[in-house]
Amino acid sequence: MFKKILIVNRGEIAVRVIRACKELGIISAAIYSDADKTSLHTLLADESYHIGAAPASESYLNKNKILDLAKKIKADAIHPGYGFFSENSDFIQAVENAGIIFIGPSSKSVSKMGNKTEARTLMSQNKVPIVPGATKPVKSINEGIKLASQIGYPILLKAVAGGGGKGMRKINSQEEFSSSFEAVKREALKAFANDDIYIEKYINNPRHIEVQVFGDKLGNYVHLFERECSIQRRHQKIIEEAPSSFVDSETREKITSAAIKAAKACGYYNAGTIEFLMDSNKNFYFLEMNTRIQVEHPVTELITGKDLVKEQIAVASGKPLSFTQNEIKINCHSIEARIYAEDPQNNFLPSTGNILNYYEPSGPGVRVDSGIRRDSAVTVYYDPLVAKLVCWDSNRDNAIKKILRALGEYNISGITNNISFLTKILSSEKFIKGDFDISFLEREKILFDSPESNLVDADMQKASAILAGLLKMRTNVFQRKSDAVSNKWIEQNYE
Ligand code: ADP
Repeated sequence: MFKKILIVNRGEIAVRVIRACKELGIISAAIYSDADKTSLHTLLADESYHIGAAPASESYLNKNKILDLAKKIKADAIHPGYGFFSENSDFIQAVENAGIIFIGPSSKSVSKMGNKTEARTLMSQNKVPIVPGATKPVKSINEGIKLASQIGYPILLKAVAGGGGKGMRKINSQEEFSSSFEAVKREALKAFANDDIYIEKYINNPRHIEVQVFGDKLGNYVHLFERECSIQRRHQKIIEEAPSSFVDSETREKITSAAIKAAKACGYYNAGTIEFLMDSNKNFYFLEMNTRIQVEHPVTELITGKDLVKEQIAVASGKPLSFTQNEIKINCHSIEARIYAEDPQNNFLPSTGNILNYYEPSGPGVRVDSGIRRDSAVTVYYDPLVAKLVCWDSNRDNAIKKILRALGEYNISGITNNISFLTKILSSEKFIKGDFDISFLEREKILFDSPESNLVDADMQKASAILAGLLKMRTNVFQRKSDAVSNKWIEQNYE
């Protein structure tokens, strides 16, 4: 096993990795920028090293400085977290060349899956269904128009190197195609230093369902079931849960088998996620593979009881997976809400400032993965995700009640946050019924329009009433099917 791991990240995910290292008896080494001198990850790590100025390009993305530091402090391995260098195959290659273990997949797997058209080609060759569309970049307007009319509008123009929900535009007609093509190329070049774009069929109101996969260096693969990530704003996830209330056991079998196929196709090892879009008929299509630990990994940890970060470290050191497929079960329901420093009343403008007061919820079934504490500074330099509230309970209805209870306990002052907004979503009737897709927030404008004041109490009461009704309804349905109510309750909800 490793003696020392250098964590090339910040915020809540750096804290998460530090905690895993401590439990494994491995020295955790953190890096910090000028803006993070007193941040939680800087204070919690066994060793912390100043890496540069606040802008990420001068600190968390300064490849040479990071590699020099790793050698100097004799780190055996580097954990990249998510974002920053986690899916950068050049960085991974440089780490491999320096004789340091990268805690993640090989640079080869990352570069295969990082290019969206190459990944689509590989998937269709391996009989994993992909979203209809091109498997090569579209070179000219004429070529694009021909293909788009074969596929049928609306289509999406997408950047081959895109990520983070950026670099895609919905196109409704041939006229729009002609006027948008060059603009989308320019945007792609600016954002991703690569102006290749391609066409995908725009799937109407699908769900975003993803499967957690894990491989070791000996060629063993498992999946850890699906996550439902359809509650998104501008293609970025806000609320995630596991399992999905939309996925039945037959669909689960199919989608998890497809995910394992996808992982095998790129010779994958370590933690990875295969993302799919699922239409209302439960047809699913490969969207992309995320070759790293995901923000939303805790919901999978909570339903399965497996520690994915410790497993990442063990597998990177060459150990076989510590569990077989048969040993992974869905034990409960889990929901995560992302706490952002942003202002939902002001077009979600990121909010900066010093945290003056910070009180986290706790109690049974509550986990908070946070990167902040009292007196932390939230700056303009990094992602506004400051913490994740993750709750679990015996079934979905109870998990919703739990997360609403926990959100009500949260108290953060000094920055504006999205807690009331999250409460509105989680207590809305449609969310509670599981009646949503990726366009939910766009459609349900009311979630944005109602005033913030006094919402928490009012919503809590409303949500409890709706949940009570739903629970009664389901219990009645279930009682008709079988006499054994209590111990079958969990199975009933997850089959
Ligand atoms: P990124 O790499 O930027 O995260 P993805 O390809 O994973 O981009 O897509 C992000 C989100 O964009 C999806 O979860 C979904 O909401 C939406 N999306 C992507 N492709 C399509 C499509 N073909 N049809 C409809 N929505 C899509």
